[in-house]
Amino acid sequence: MTFRSVVKLTIFCSIILAGFTVSSTPIRAAQVHILCYHTFLGNPKIDTDFSTTEFESHIRIMENKGYRFRRFSEMRAGTVTGDRNILLVIDDGNQSAYTAAISVLKPRHIPALFAIYPGIINTRKFAMTWAQLRELKDGGNEFASHGYFHEFLNQKLKDKRPADFDKEAVLSKRILEKELGIPIDVYIYPFGVCTVEGKELLKSAGYRYAMTIRSRVTKLPLSQNPNPLELPRTMITRATAKSALSAL
Ligand SMILES: [Zn+2]
Repeated sequence: MTFRSVVKLTIFCSIILAGFTVSSTPIRAAQVHILCYHTFLGNPKIDTDFSTTEFESHIRIMENKGYRFRRFSEMRAGTVTGDRNILLVIDDGNQSAYTAAISVLKPRHIPALFAIYPGIINTRKFAMTWAQLRELKDGGNEFASHGYFHEFLNQKLKDKRPADFDKEAVLSKRILEKELGIPIDVYIYPFGVCTVEGKELLKSAGYRYAMTIRSRVTKLPLSQNPNPLELPRTMITRATAKSALSAL
């Protein structure tokens, strides 16, 4: 092989290699990590609970990795692009979620979606009040139904207490809409339990989206997901927080 052909071969190989390198770098599709939190009491014995300081450190990790905090309304409108998106969902309407929203999220202008079951609002000490929920709404936060009494939306409830089965989706939506003055069409399955009969009820009650607990990313636009009533969420617990955050 002559010197000239060696040079030609080297250039040829470099071009092929460069092409391979470029084409092997995948362009990641638009996506959002929907993260599920619960309470912020600072009780290390509760797996789904964090202190506000711990929550703040999670937020800082997400920010340092270049994630942007999104609203569900932006996802629904199809305006969210890129793969570094987070939707924070806080389940159950605990008083400590209000504290975390005001002390950790509000100063950073980070929105959250609160999953609320009206059966406890204004009636239980550990739960938020309607006034607090309205304050969070006025601050740009969003809301979803989390049932009426946080029951399993399944065949057992439908068979044994059909009126309560309906109430979980129908009455919850009606009360949230009346108290907050906004349309509610997102349902967060209590315990993450998603059933065929539950989805039928949600459809007839006018819900367009529902979220489960499955540790997967949600594709954007939302129409890319197999079922809008089964959008995945990653639950953040003391046991999983470290690995879930480092996997972002
Ligand atoms: Zn819950």
